[in-house]
Amino acid sequence: MNYDYTMGLLEDLREVLGAQTSVIDDPEIIASYSRDQSQLATHGNPLLVVLAKSELEIGKVLRFANNRRIPVVARGAGSGLSGGANAVTGGIVISLEKMNRILEIDEVNQIARVEPGVINLDLDKEVSKLNLSYLPDPASREWSTIGGNVATNAGGMCCVKYGVTANHVRAIRLVMADGEVITVGNPLKKSVTNLDLLHLIVGSEGTLGIVSEVVVSLAPRPKPATTLIATFSGIDAAMKAVPELVALGPSMLEVVDETTLRAVEEWKPLGFEGVGTVLIMQSDESADVCARGATIAEKYGALDATYSDDPRDSSDLIQVRKLAYPALERKGVALLDDVCVPISQITKLITRVREIAEENELLIGIFGHAGDGNMHPTIVYDHGDTEAEKRAQHAFNSIIGVAQELGGTASGEHGIGSIKIEAARIESGSRIIEIQREIKRIFDPNGILNPGKKIP
Ligand SMILES: Cc1cc2nc3c(=O)[nH]c(=O)nc-3n(C[C@H](O)[C@H](O)[C@H](O)COP(=O)(O)OP(=O)(O)OC[C@H]3O[C@@H](n4cnc5c(N)ncnc54)[C@H](O)[C@@H]3O)c2cc1C
Repeated sequence: MNYDYTMGLLEDLREVLGAQTSVIDDPEIIASYSRDQSQLATHGNPLLVVLAKSELEIGKVLRFANNRRIPVVARGAGSGLSGGANAVTGGIVISLEKMNRILEIDEVNQIARVEPGVINLDLDKEVSKLNLSYLPDPASREWSTIGGNVATNAGGMCCVKYGVTANHVRAIRLVMADGEVITVGNPLKKSVTNLDLLHLIVGSEGTLGIVSEVVVSLAPRPKPATTLIATFSGIDAAMKAVPELVALGPSMLEVVDETTLRAVEEWKPLGFEGVGTVLIMQSDESADVCARGATIAEKYGALDATYSDDPRDSSDLIQVRKLAYPALERKGVALLDDVCVPISQITKLITRVREIAEENELLIGIFGHAGDGNMHPTIVYDHGDTEAEKRAQHAFNSIIGVAQELGGTASGEHGIGSIKIEAARIESGSRIIEIQREIKRIFDPNGILNPGKKIP
């Protein structure tokens, strides 16, 4: 793309926006806005960062950038793991962190209207005062934003029962590349008047517009969960139990493999020595569901199956899953992958990932959402070991290839960003790629919005 830079860009933009808007040109501060949490993704050096405080400001910046063909990257909390929020050299980063107001909670219609920079957990805490819940629960919910969650269609542990972010979004106000604002979707529970543009925007990773407001669904607050933990000598038996456990309708069903268990035990021993795989299930309906789950686990050869409906026990029982990623992370650089396969193929995926670990002389722990097939193989290598880093990148791509061969997909929840563009190309087929490019041209004819991301 041929960017038409003008001299005095900063002065021009400040004139358009007025003195009230924070425009950052300090290189050190800019650097802190130039990348997300991905270890693999490259990033550029943006010219400016704008801390937008209103939809009007977003529109002004986009109109300004569109006229000059300057690339613009939207940023929530920068917790993404695929390079989606990584800056483009010579571009502008619009951070939505200051647009963090909960605008309305409508108890009768069970919806909330929020700005994009609202932190996921802050919204849930606020609606909990009304005994309501905002259900989508990415592990990053303490710091990731609703705008970022919408743009990546974030998942979490509750997906096995409650679905992904897309299932909880009713309407979005979107600022398009030329600054025009549209509303897609409808705060109503049902509306089939238009094509489903809402779900075109959800998961579009900032390539079609900038989300300036979101109406989300709220749900009656689920009951405190009963938790079951079942230990197995190996992955095969554990995975045989999964389809019957899923049929019980759990609100969570997670798996932690042997490599990850060892990393946890080395750090914070929880008593899992000699255990090959752990399954953790929760039900927010009744303790009876977990009792039945324990019987199923035992039928498939569980070494042990324990459950409790005491919330304090529950938090102890899920501890091993919460420690999975930090336990691997403390052993070196951790590349957290995110693939999704049919649940019938999880055993094959884990077996192949073990082979990939051996072939590449790497430590790869696997944990993830057994109930929906979304696995997080996490590759660990020593800091500063450039040879191991190359092998890790190779392993990262090989795992995606294996998932695709098994009928799975390159990303279940973290998004394509820049690091999985090639995998998306392989998975999608040329006509689907062309359709996506045509759609992109409608929303963003000059290609200024997050170029090089999401769409191959
Ligand atoms: C420890 C850890 C655990 C994680 N666990 C999970 C998990 O369980 N499930 C999961 O799905 N993800 C998880 N993630 C990944 C990440 O937190 C999610 O992708 C999250 O949705 C990103 O939100 P964010 O506000 O940080 O967005 P950012 O990282 O800032 O941006 C993500 C993408 O959204 C775009 N974007 C951001 N805001 C807007 C906007 N207002 N309008 C348009 N585009 C926008 C960006 O351009 C970028 O493409 C985890 C990350 C970490 C570090």
